[in-house]
Amino acid sequence: MDFLITGGLVVTEDREFRADVAVDGEKIVSVGGGLPRTPEAVVLDASGKYVLPGVIDAHTHFALRSRGTVTADGFASGTRSAACGGVTTVIDFADQLPGMSMARSARARIEEAAPGASVDFALHMTVTRVPEDLAGEMAALGRMGVGAVKLFTTYRAAGYLLEDDDFLAVAEAANGAGLLVTVHAEDNDTVERFEAALREHGRTSPSQHAESRPSEAEAIAIKKVAAHLGRLGIPVYFVHVSSGAGLDAAREARRMGCTVYAETCPHYLLLTQDEYSGDRAREFIMTPPLRTAADAAALWDAVLGGEIDVIATDHCAFTREQKALGETCFDVLPGIPGVETLLPLVHQEGVVRRGMALPDMVRVLSHNPARLFGLYPRKGTIAPGADADIVIFDPGCSRTIPGASLHSNAGYTPYGGMKVQGWPMTVMVRGRVVLAGDQFVGGPGWGRFVASTPGLAAGDG
Ligand SMILES: [Zn+2]
Repeated sequence: MDFLITGGLVVTEDREFRADVAVDGEKIVSVGGGLPRTPEAVVLDASGKYVLPGVIDAHTHFALRSRGTVTADGFASGTRSAACGGVTTVIDFADQLPGMSMARSARARIEEAAPGASVDFALHMTVTRVPEDLAGEMAALGRMGVGAVKLFTTYRAAGYLLEDDDFLAVAEAANGAGLLVTVHAEDNDTVERFEAALREHGRTSPSQHAESRPSEAEAIAIKKVAAHLGRLGIPVYFVHVSSGAGLDAAREARRMGCTVYAETCPHYLLLTQDEYSGDRAREFIMTPPLRTAADAAALWDAVLGGEIDVIATDHCAFTREQKALGETCFDVLPGIPGVETLLPLVHQEGVVRRGMALPDMVRVLSHNPARLFGLYPRKGTIAPGADADIVIFDPGCSRTIPGASLHSNAGYTPYGGMKVQGWPMTVMVRGRVVLAGDQFVGGPGWGRFVASTPGLAAGDG
């Protein structure tokens, strides 16, 4: 045995209980009361602390090349930031590379990510064009352990959007190969119409961002996609649901019998479009945009009511200098950092402020992403046989989130100045301590690609 974590409150997806956790090599080997100490084991005293399964951020964009630049966080700084916030697995994205099959593109992405990664990573495949051998390529992706595809209903001009026929063909092929279909849902026609109207009136400053992509666009797209895929019996996972209207569309689809999973992000729960009226508007531009306080309240209700399956960050960091390159709400680089603050913010605003049960927090941050993306039971719980991805979390530690000194290369966080109670003290990835107190002690290259076992989402448990 290498580590014995003693006396903490162990939290899993369905209960919390006082127990010791023994770690040997990369695995948890036993969980129970009063586990015997062995002379060689390092004892980590977790009394008064929570022992949580490592957080899985199911939506990050590290080293994303887009719009002529690359995001501020590559895999080294991105996963360092993740580790320091208790995130032990990130699920990032592979893009279809020119002249390469999807499986080869994904393999290239794994090679790009692995040297810098200090936490584990899995991949979603972003599909923006239909390859000739669609079914064959999907099957190959499934075999190599890519658990999901991501499809866009918007960004026609940027080449991300799949037109309806292609969208359905890709969704069917992905589902057939056991991959979960995830969708960025904003109706392109609506977005383009609002953009044209704002341009016509010369209202294009960063402060117009929320207006340029209204929540109706989200609701229309969710409704349409869920109806189409529901008819075909294909489960769908909507990334970054941002609004009450979007949520209502998802609820409606569920009532009609569609299998709909919903993800939201801390920024839609904690920030509002009022940020766009300040002179720091650019630092809050992401898509979909921030919404109203009523939207945030509706999203919290859905989180507490179990209607949101996953809270993930959509971490897509740009520095202030990169943000300043854009003049209008249409060309400021969209995206914010978030991976490091995910757990502390959801704990503070969910558990401390709103009385969310600890197992419910574990479910949206770790267990559900593991299950939906085929990483469970290796990830997403604390049990013998699972990877030793563990967060020792001090619920008594009060912090003010610093504006600048987090571990992302963004150089700022949109949550700077917020007060939180609770912070990760020790973080372990496959049995290796990567955060000790305030010290990042991880190593680039320790993180590994984790293959998804396809077909889990459809089975639902
Ligand atoms: Zn994203």
